[in-house]
Amino acid sequence: MQTSIATVSLSGGLAEKLEAIAAAGFAGVEIFESDLLSFNGTPKDVAGMVASLGLKIVTFQPFRDFAGMPEPQRSRTFARAERKFDLMGELGCDLLMICSNVAPDALGGVDRAAADFHELGERARKRGIRVGFEALAWGRHISDYRDSWEVVRRADHPAIGLTLDSFHIFSRKTNLKSIRSIPADKIVLVQLADAPWLDMDVISWSRHFRCFPGQGDFPLTEFMDAVSATGYSGLLSLEIFNDQFRAGSPRGVAVDGQRSLVYLMDQMRGRPGALAKAAPQIPPRAQCLGIEFLEFAADDRTAAELAKLFAGLGFHKIGEHKSKAVTRWSQGAINLVLNSDKDGFAHSHQLAHGPSVCAMCLKVDDASATLDRAEKLRDTPFRQAVGPGELEIPAVRGLGGSLLYFVDPKSELGRLWDIDFTTPKQPERNGSAGLTTVDHVSQSMQYEEMLSWLLFYNSLLDVTKTPQLDVIDPGGIVRSQVVQTAGGTLRIALNASQSQRTLSSRFLTHYFGSGVQHIAFATDDIVTTIKQLRVNGVKLLSIPENYYDDLEARTDLSAERLEVLRANDILYDRDDAGEYLQAYTHSFEGLFFFEIVERRAYKGFGAVNASIRLAAQAREMNLSDVQK
Ligand code: MG
Ligand code: MG
Repeated sequence: MQTSIATVSLSGGLAEKLEAIAAAGFAGVEIFESDLLSFNGTPKDVAGMVASLGLKIVTFQPFRDFAGMPEPQRSRTFARAERKFDLMGELGCDLLMICSNVAPDALGGVDRAAADFHELGERARKRGIRVGFEALAWGRHISDYRDSWEVVRRADHPAIGLTLDSFHIFSRKTNLKSIRSIPADKIVLVQLADAPWLDMDVISWSRHFRCFPGQGDFPLTEFMDAVSATGYSGLLSLEIFNDQFRAGSPRGVAVDGQRSLVYLMDQMRGRPGALAKAAPQIPPRAQCLGIEFLEFAADDRTAAELAKLFAGLGFHKIGEHKSKAVTRWSQGAINLVLNSDKDGFAHSHQLAHGPSVCAMCLKVDDASATLDRAEKLRDTPFRQAVGPGELEIPAVRGLGGSLLYFVDPKSELGRLWDIDFTTPKQPERNGSAGLTTVDHVSQSMQYEEMLSWLLFYNSLLDVTKTPQLDVIDPGGIVRSQVVQTAGGTLRIALNASQSQRTLSSRFLTHYFGSGVQHIAFATDDIVTTIKQLRVNGVKLLSIPENYYDDLEARTDLSAERLEVLRANDILYDRDDAGEYLQAYTHSFEGLFFFEIVERRAYKGFGAVNASIRLAAQAREMNLSDVQK
């Protein structure tokens, strides 16, 4: 499958954009007129640059307000088209994109528009140029692909074809069925964009909130099925207007774009139609069986402090790495790895971020297939030297320069603890707090990164994403979205904030980048767990009385139960399925913290309590400037 992307999707100058597009593996590029106009060089220079990068200019766009103009504007419009054809000749581009006319003086009528396109087709054919017509969702007379197709059909000219753009079709909730009866040879280009469902003006929606396939809410595989049914197997091109992308690095955004297309095409495998044959040969999304371990990087001082905290949380040190200053802490099915070695990846992570979660290891069904898929998705593999006889664990770069490791039960990787670590001592029970598994991991990131990491997790692992949620922080709004497996073996909450004053943002500043902000451990009995934590000397985040007064007013919890919650600083929520009880530790040096949860068939993450928790943390950290 040949892929292309519009220059408008990326930040930077034209040269920088083209380099990023080529590096991400695209075959083609849509040149936007604004990028050409601001380029310091001739169209021939652009053509040379594109060719030297091994790219092809797919189309030049946009050409606005063409069809249905009254005279004398009509003649001027044709003269304008001729000048574009000249320019395209210099660019070495043979497809002009024309969108719906939005001019107030444009006249309606399918036949009038068809006649204009027929005449333009005659002029274009002489130059070896084709023209694609695209219905804008906000076109004055034509805003529906079924009408633009009727214009193209009646224009009946070999140089005139149709452009389909998923955004314009989904944003008007147009039925997809009629796409299936369009002849494939009349479709000159398919443009793909996803978007969140928003109830807003369609032009602003299109110009600010488009995103790559898989990052929004549109059912793009249904659109692809309809396109596939026509027999179309030509270019798929990304045309994304998005403020976050324009704030990101062109290289990173281009790679995300390529990843989104690989993932979308992967979903076409086995489906009816022409596109299934073009699906990439890659292993399926990895089944995540659980988190095998979380690795903390620390220096000597903070490693000693962290070890104290782990012990307080009921973990026991049960093993040591055979060749490095690395210890294994365990409780229930949870493994924490504490790395204070002076060499290697964890050390550099610690230098950059301070004490931090530097890696997360997932237990998957097949670790080498997972790495293979990651490489095909253009994720970044990571390798480092290992000692003789030690395991080389497959890994890719994750959020904020951290690592995502993969182990599986079917290879040597399943014996990781036996191979790389000393044999566990007889499990000691003293001080255990009844923690069973990692319920979820919460990662904070820059707002611009959120769509990237959503796509990263969704494309690699068999997870689904929850709808976006906005949580009120004393310093602003925090956007939150969760990716999770069906069985709850992996839940990752992604949090981002545009305000500099939210706790999430302050974490980024304090921590020097994106990373794990908190880890929630599950228990079957939160009250017993909290009692043990107190015995162990671990203090919990104090929750204000007002919270419990409100809880009493809005729930039917008994006075006894409320008193237990109040006495233990436990936050409470319930949904259709069950109940959720949560408590928080104080933060570790202002960098990250732990949550204890008792999840009784409950599906969510206590969003209703998040603002209470954030306010309590803000108070605790004495963030006086947040209150201003
Ligand atoms: Mg378009
Ligand atoms: Mg209290």
